[in-house]
Amino acid sequence: HDVKYYEVRRPCRVMVLVNPQSGRGQALQLFSGQIEPMLTEASVPYTLVITEHQNHARDLVRETDLSQWDALVILSGDGLLFEVLNGLLEREDWEEAIQTPLGILPGGSGNALAASVHHYTKSPPAWGKELLLSCGFLLCKGLVTRLDLVSVQMASSQRIFSFLSLAWGFVADVDIESEKYRLVGPMRFLVGTLMRLASLKVYQGRLAYLPAPPFTPQNSSLCSSLPCGPNSSPNQNSRHNHSTSSNHNTAHNSSNIAITTMRTEPQPVNQKGPPDSLLADLEQPVPEHWTVVNEEDFVLVLAMFQSHLAEDLFAAPGAAADDGFIHLLYVRAGISRLALLTLFMTMEKGGHLAIGCPHLVYERVKAFRLEPLSPEGAITVDGEMVEYGPVQAQVHEGIARLISG
Ligand code: ADP
Ligand code: MG
Repeated sequence: HDVKYYEVRRPCRVMVLVNPQSGRGQALQLFSGQIEPMLTEASVPYTLVITEHQNHARDLVRETDLSQWDALVILSGDGLLFEVLNGLLEREDWEEAIQTPLGILPGGSGNALAASVHHYTKSPPAWGKELLLSCGFLLCKGLVTRLDLVSVQMASSQRIFSFLSLAWGFVADVDIESEKYRLVGPMRFLVGTLMRLASLKVYQGRLAYLPAPPFTPQNSSLCSSLPCGPNSSPNQNSRHNHSTSSNHNTAHNSSNIAITTMRTEPQPVNQKGPPDSLLADLEQPVPEHWTVVNEEDFVLVLAMFQSHLAEDLFAAPGAAADDGFIHLLYVRAGISRLALLTLFMTMEKGGHLAIGCPHLVYERVKAFRLEPLSPEGAITVDGEMVEYGPVQAQVHEGIARLISG
């Protein structure tokens, strides 16, 4: 007999992942106090997942049936999104999985992507609760843009994906050392910077990069919207109104709060994800058309993929979510403490590139390689400590999706 197919419009389903330990340990309260009422008001059904340990979210998104979700939203710092991205790119179906719209709600002590997303909306700067509400509003609006990712290769042939930054030297050390001041929240970077300035060091290493072609500024392009977003069809909206109350109720039902315990296995070497067409083997010299930096004495090397390094550090003023660039900054050795302090103070408003600091260099690149020469040290990717040693990275333009303005 004839089978009739009816298009069944379904509600927009959002998985909200909360790291209860992030920031000052108040992410859950931020959710119930600020975000839950907004989602309720906007009739966005969600499922709350509270992470129990490091890599919980990574394991979960690697295994979960993604067809159940219209968006994965992180209420934490940048570290939890880093887990989620890498979990998605470890899947067999990574090409499809990485298309899942991702949202960020600032609940950590490092909320750089949230600050960047807010900045891309051209709104005046916001911090703390105001930033959280801004990002909550963007989530309810549900507009989705493309997001660049950067693949980072390490000596162990491990590969990870980054959405934010790679740091070595001063910034990486501040990132690691300031972990112990996390109870002061986003202020921890300021405290850490002042402590590090007191014991300023020089870091030896080699740096090379592939310069980017000349820049033509473009606005981030809207690529889609969530089913519950303003650009969704009228059909979807009416369906949505209809499902409002029931979905809203289940969201409050404790059965919808999934707390899954998973064993933390050693993370597999990631062979999935897009190929790094711009990079030579890490053991081989860099390609001939790359620029090799003359200096070997640095105070810091900082590769930025978004505009903000922290809520109050506007490190790459020209950056956009999907500009296809790595914004490479480095500071040569010989800079005075005062000049370095001035750099970080002017960075709050993004003015550091305009003060004519002779030790600061800024380049727009597509790929780079960094080879630290000292046997010990720290490299951070998206604020997380990674394997120390030679690294190289390249940008993959717009391969992920971000809930943005
Ligand atoms: P913050 O900005 O406060 O550092 P992050 O989101 O960066 O917040 O999280 C910090 C670290 O905590 C990350 O490495 C993340 O993987 C890890 N993490 C996630 N969930 C938990 C948990 N439930 N308990 C402890 N650590 C967790
Ligand atoms: Mg963090």
